[in-house]
Amino acid sequence: MTSDESLARIKGFVFDLDGTIWEGPTLLPGAAELVTAIRGAGHEVVFASNCSRHGGDVLRDRLVSMGITAESRDVVTAFDLVGDEIRRRLGPVPVLVIGTDELVTVLREAGCRPVGEDQASEALAVIVGVDPSFSYPRLRAAARAVAGGAAFFAINLDARFPVGPDLFEPGCGALAAAIATASGSDPIAFGKPEHPLFRVALERIGRSPDVVAMVGDSTASDMAGGRAAGMFTIWIDQNPSQPKPPTVDLVVRDPAELLRLWNKLAHEAGAGPGSVPTSQTRL
Ligand SMILES: [Mg+2]
Repeated sequence: MTSDESLARIKGFVFDLDGTIWEGPTLLPGAAELVTAIRGAGHEVVFASNCSRHGGDVLRDRLVSMGITAESRDVVTAFDLVGDEIRRRLGPVPVLVIGTDELVTVLREAGCRPVGEDQASEALAVIVGVDPSFSYPRLRAAARAVAGGAAFFAINLDARFPVGPDLFEPGCGALAAAIATASGSDPIAFGKPEHPLFRVALERIGRSPDVVAMVGDSTASDMAGGRAAGMFTIWIDQNPSQPKPPTVDLVVRDPAELLRLWNKLAHEAGAGPGSVPTSQTRL
């Protein structure tokens, strides 16, 4: 089966955000039009981000401000999973939080007891997000708690996150790596390429993974994780001279190229890749 034939079978799309839908303050070419076309064909779209600083509602508001309609259920971040995942695995335990005040709030709302570094000896779990106040005392507290038997979680393992053209901030994975080195244990992560974020995104799409596409710019998180979840993988590669990795089913330069491909399939199929007339937009 060719990539085009496989794309024609797709009934739902999960989009990464950074580097896929937007780059810094700018939408990538064709992003809004692509989302509109997919929804117009009657298919679900979910946005799944490894963001470790905000929940989906913050990113939903950003999408809307950039001209892409989105409801709360359309956007899920790795940050959103923290409370439920820790609570489901360990119950309402004391958790040492290496992260922002928002992360403390999420854990409290999930019924866990957030503790600071001065109470680290009570912690039965350590969670790491992006932490602008990361310090040697926090590293020491987290490493000692993990070495002492506390479960070790990271929102994601991204080394960096982009904040503009050629500009990055150190990511959650950089902080988790320091704790892993000092404690001798590796964290369990919730974000891409690990399965929890894909599981939630697929539940929201409501389709089996073989008819859902993962669209993203990261081969390490979006493509590897999407392939492992059984999805069709579409790589946004703005530097097309790179060889296609084995986890990638289809490569496009930007959303505009994917839209051209989608429209071509729609033209060839008469009624379009979707079986629902374009007047029946999503609810
Ligand atoms: Mg990305």
